Order: sequence, then C-alpha cells, then structure tokens
Amino acid sequence: MLTHSLGFPRIGAKRELKWALEQYWRGEIDESALNETAFQVRRRNWEIQRDRGIELLPVGDFSLYDHILDTAFMLDAIPERFREGNGQSGIDTYFCMARGDAEKDIPAMEMTKWFDTNYHYIVPELAPDQAFTPNPDPLLEQLQEVNDLGMSGKPVLPGPLTFLLLSRSTEKDANTLDLLPALTEAYAQILSSLANKCEWIQIDEPILVQNLPKATVELLSPAYENLAKAAGPAKLLLTTYFEGAAHHAETILSLPVAGIHLDLVRAPQQLDVFLQEYPKDKTLSLGVVDGRNVWKTDLNTAVEPLKAAIKELGEHRVMAAPSCSMLHVPVDLEAECKLDGNIRNWLAFAAQKCTELRVLAFAARDLNCVEPLKNNANAIAQRRNSPLITNPEVRKRAITKEMTSRNSVFEQRSATQQERLGLPALPTTTIGSFPQTEEVRKTRAAFRHERIDAAAYEDTMREYIKDCVRKQEAIGLDVLVHGEPERTDMVEYFGRRLDGFCFTDFGWVQSYGSRCVKPPIIYGDISRPAPMTVEWTTYAASLTDKPLKGMLTGPVTILCWSFVRDDMERMDVCRQIALAIRDEVADLEAAGIGVIQIDEPAFREGLPLQKGKRKKYLADAVESFRIASCCVRDETQIHTHMCYADFNDVIEHIAAMDADVISIEASRSAMELLEAFADFRYPNDIGPGVWDIHSARVPSAEEMAQNLRKATRDIPAARIWANPDCGLKTRAWPETLASLENLVKAAKIVRNELLT
Ligand code: GLN
Ligand code: ZN
Repeated sequence: MLTHSLGFPRIGAKRELKWALEQYWRGEIDESALNETAFQVRRRNWEIQRDRGIELLPVGDFSLYDHILDTAFMLDAIPERFREGNGQSGIDTYFCMARGDAEKDIPAMEMTKWFDTNYHYIVPELAPDQAFTPNPDPLLEQLQEVNDLGMSGKPVLPGPLTFLLLSRSTEKDANTLDLLPALTEAYAQILSSLANKCEWIQIDEPILVQNLPKATVELLSPAYENLAKAAGPAKLLLTTYFEGAAHHAETILSLPVAGIHLDLVRAPQQLDVFLQEYPKDKTLSLGVVDGRNVWKTDLNTAVEPLKAAIKELGEHRVMAAPSCSMLHVPVDLEAECKLDGNIRNWLAFAAQKCTELRVLAFAARDLNCVEPLKNNANAIAQRRNSPLITNPEVRKRAITKEMTSRNSVFEQRSATQQERLGLPALPTTTIGSFPQTEEVRKTRAAFRHERIDAAAYEDTMREYIKDCVRKQEAIGLDVLVHGEPERTDMVEYFGRRLDGFCFTDFGWVQSYGSRCVKPPIIYGDISRPAPMTVEWTTYAASLTDKPLKGMLTGPVTILCWSFVRDDMERMDVCRQIALAIRDEVADLEAAGIGVIQIDEPAFREGLPLQKGKRKKYLADAVESFRIASCCVRDETQIHTHMCYADFNDVIEHIAAMDADVISIEASRSAMELLEAFADFRYPNDIGPGVWDIHSARVPSAEEMAQNLRKATRDIPAARIWANPDCGLKTRAWPETLASLENLVKAAKIVRNELLT
C-alpha cells in the first residue's frame, strides 16, 4: 500500500517564497534568484514528505503564483492583452496575467475562490475558438528535479473538466465546455511526454463533487479515453475532494483511469458506494487525513476504511492520502513554541499529517506501530476530556425564538430610527476602516512586542480616532465610524478577545499569490470575557454630535476565516460566536451607540458545495446573524456589510437576516448587482457601493451620482444609502479624502434631483 500526498503548501514554512516573489516584483532580485528560492522550497517540501513516510511525491503542485494560472500558461491560453508587451520574458508575462500592469494600464485576470476554501485562483479567460499549445517543459523539469534527488514523483494536473468549468469565456454566450475536445488533445500531448517518466499521474477533478448535469459528466468518458491512451504505461489517478462524489459514482467508475481518490474526511459514507462495484483493475486512494484542518487524526478510527478497502481489494490496490492537497494548512507544527502545550498536542500541520499517513499505512496492514497508535489515542482522549474545550456557562445558554427576532417589523423600526437619527435622504457613510498609516501599524506592533506600554498605545489610537472623526465631520458624512486603527484583521481582532481561540506564530496559509493569512484556531467553547470594542466606540462617539456606527465582525465570517474545532457541529460553533457578538451588541447599545454594523463578508462563501446541504447552512447562518443582532431595541439601527458576491441565489436569505441596512460591493459591476435586490423587492435599506475602493482612482462626484441615479431606478430612493463598496484600510489618505468629498457631493446632487 502506497502513501502519497495530493499537494504540499508551497509558500515555505517561513514564507520564503512570499519574500522572494515580492523582492522580484520590486526589482531587487533577478529571475534566477527567484527560481533558486522556488527550487529550495520544492526540495524542502519533497524532503519533508519523504522523510516522514510519503512514498509518492507530488510534482507540479508547486506554483510561483497559482496552479490554475500555471495550467493556462502551460497551455498558452494567454489573453491577447498580455501578448502585446513585447520584450517581456515568460515569467513577466505570467506575473502580468496575475497582477496586471498599472503603468501600461493592463488589467489583471480575475481571481476567485477555489471551491469552498479561502484560496483564490486566477480564472482562465478562453476565447470560443481558443487554441491550446502545450509546453510541458516546466513540469518535466520539476519531475527531473525530484528524480535527481532520488525520489519518485507523481505529476499533478488540474483535470480538463475542472479547468474548463472554472474558466470563463471571453464571449458572453459561449460555453467553455465546447473546448473540451481541443483541450483534451493538448492534455494528451502533455501526458504522452510524461508517459515513460513516472508511474502515476494525478488528475484533479474536484468539480465532480458538485452537482453537474448528466450531459456534462458524460463528456468525461471520451475525454479520458484519449488521456489514458496518451499516458501509455503511466497510470492516471483521478482525484475528487472537498466533498463526496458518490452522486457521479457510476460515471467515475466507468472511466479508463487506473485509480480514483476519494475524500473520506468530508464524505466517509461514499466509501461503501464505491466499494460495492469497484472495478477489478483499479486502485483506490483514500483521503483519511484532513487536508483542510489542523487537528490530529484519530488514527484508530481513520484506519478502519483503509482496512475495509484492503479486505475488498488487497493491499496493493489501496493508497493512503490526505483528503485533498495540504495547500490549505500550515507547514510544520514544530515551529510553534508559544502554543499552550496541551493544545499543541492536539494539532497536526502538513508535516505531521505525513507522519500520520505512515502510521496509518502500517496500522492498516497490521504491521507493528503500537507506540505511535498509543500516543495518538492518548492525545485524542486528552483532548476529548480536557476542561479547556468545554465551558459549562456557554453550554447552558439556550437559544430561544425571541432571541432571534426584533421587537417590531422593519417599517416600524425604520420610523423609530429615523426619529432618533434624523438622517437626510441618501445618507452617506463608510464601511468602517480608514487608511492604516505607517504610524498606526508601527504602534500596534510596538505594543504587541511590549516595546511601548498600554498608555502610549492608547494615546496614539485615540489621536488617530480623533483625527478620523474630525475628517469625517469636515467632509460632511452623515453616519461616522471610528476608523478601526486598533485592528490588524477583522477576524483576528475578535478572536484574540474571545475565549476558545488560540493563535500560531507561523500558521500561514496561502490566500493568493504572495498573500497569506494566519487563521485563528477555535479549540474550545467560545465566550466573551469582557467588552471588545465598547471603549474605542464610545470614545469616538463622544467626539461628535453625529451618529457613530459601532463595528463588529459577524459570526459566520469569524467561523469561515478560522480553523474550526472538528469535535462539534460547525454551525453550533457559529451559534456560540453569535452569542458572544450578541453580548457585545447589547453592551454597545447600553453605552448609547445607536448604529451597529455587523460585517458578514463571508456569508456567501460559506455556502456548501453540494446543493442538498445549502438550505440548512443558510438557515443556520441567518439564525446566527439574528442571534447576534436581534437583542436591540427598535431605535437601534443594525447594519451589515457583504463584499462582492453573486447574490442572486441567496437573496431571500439575506433579506431574512433582517438587518436594517445592508451595504454591498456593487461598483465594479456598475450596479448590476442591485438587480437581484430589485427583482426580489428587497424590503430593507441598501447601500450599494458607488465607489470601487480596490484601486487608488478617485471617482468624480458625477460618476458616483450616476451610480446613485441608477440605483434609484431599481430601488425606492428612500431605501438607498451612499457609501464606498468596502473598508478603506488599504487606501491612502489623499485619495480617500478626495473620494469621500465627491461621495458627499454626489449624494447632495441626487438628493436635490429627487426633490424636483
Ligand atoms: N468593517 C470592515 C472594514 O471596513 C469590513 C471589511 C470587509 O468587508 N472585508 O475594513
Ligand atoms: Zn467588504
């Protein structure tokens, strides 16, 4: 029985690749220095995996920016606008596709979420008559690298169906699937060049875990006939992950591939379905170690499916693997010296997961591994029985029906709020954060490293808040904010103030390109020992007569952007967070704050991949928001904010959240997004973002007025707010002030038009 891995984190344990990439982009190092760092990271990754017992090593899982971009590039599917920059070397064209070129005014390719992860891939742009000219050389070189190191590599490629369904067509009505025959031809050329150089080739088709039309799935058979032929003696391993694939089992089992990989962490029940009719000639790879989370595997349980498969198929036809690529977890727990010793003993990062697989491979064959199994069982038991994970007070808190609804319907609340706030038509506000200056960042870091004391830290923050409030007053905004200078990250800030969360030093996970996030780890019941934002908020409110909006991160977003405990239902964890946020909302209200925003940018992205699971998620997510927000009196106005997302399929649930005001990113799609809200007759107030804050460009007052006018065509003017489309923390002050002045002007222009 072979152990293999579907992919390893590629940013480096100390983010070596990130630093090298950014140096290269700044022109501080040359291409060969960047390639040298990239090679070192790859080599290190292979060594870690091999030393810990992985026998078949992934090759081509590494990427300088993104693996889907790599594939598009390898196929020469380079959009026209990147071809004109003559004189660019290959690598600069590649980075230009990912990042655009501001000087030459070439926009980057679009980026979007990779399934239900927080990783973003570059969306290939394919013309209806797209030609593919494959160049497998980089992949062959990496295969050579691993062979030169005396290890055996398994090339990894995104499957053609997944690649096409994740791409977008340059023509509105064209279907990327029409390109499947051409793409299959190109893949066949790549596979034949690999044919005699490796035993296995991994083809990732995670799209198969989604509900695809029958006609789409049927396209697989002819395509894979060609691929299998081209691969010759090399065996194809078709992988599925992030969910079960049982609903497409019949087709998958009929494909001419030598092996199939299943994610048994997300969908353990699918094993039975596949084993029932498993073809005699195929190998079965079982993902029994969680590639998406940081917890130690319960090895004594995880070994069972391996044993069951061995019993049916014999040990030579079974492989053990992580559930998916380990791209989504940090590299090595060894680096974490500051974690609580108990909690540390419950965790496994990518390196540790490899060791787990080795033990599982032994245990599944009844080979001697008593000691590691015993240690694992102890850790699992210690975690289960630890007082750290349960808080009786939290467990006691019941959620009643009254807790999840406001006292009055929106119309009535809205009237009461208007009496209190006295806002003009098209009230102006912002999403919360203001530009984070060098001074603010330095002060936060100095305080964190105890180089300055609390008093010095608070002075700087108060200065910033005061300045921020003054600026907003001078500009003439209607609902002010404090500016969020005390927050590095909207989830981390709250996680650090809640019980049940812990933080790593090096637990970085790639988000896109050189960008990484360090998700908090939720290990225990969640509660709020003390108010988290009340002091900053009331201080800011004391500086102005205008309404000041308190800023909180919502329960679903905190959940989605953390590593969540796996010993409890995910949405039960969400409810605990919701209760903690509810306490904060109540305290803000009691302190006199009349407007409170609860951000839920991750609301849509938490949606399960499979349709059948969505209804329950949405109901739970809505309930969590309502738990967090419904404790207030009618006169307190609840806002929420969501970033750009396709709202069409979830609009009724967004309405069910019953926030008094929602702000959304709408400017990039020129207010098209509003159509979903208009068609549905969204009942409450909406602030469509009229200014795209993702670039430094200052939109004119007329441009924003035009956006507001467009909005009034779809939505009653009395329901509309004027605001930017997201927080301003990544912007600089000059463009922020200029744009906000124009925003206030735009609101005035359209207000006047409404009167006449
Ligand atoms: N209040 C947050 C901010 O303004 C919201 C950020 C977000 O939606 N991602 O930064
Ligand atoms: Zn946003």
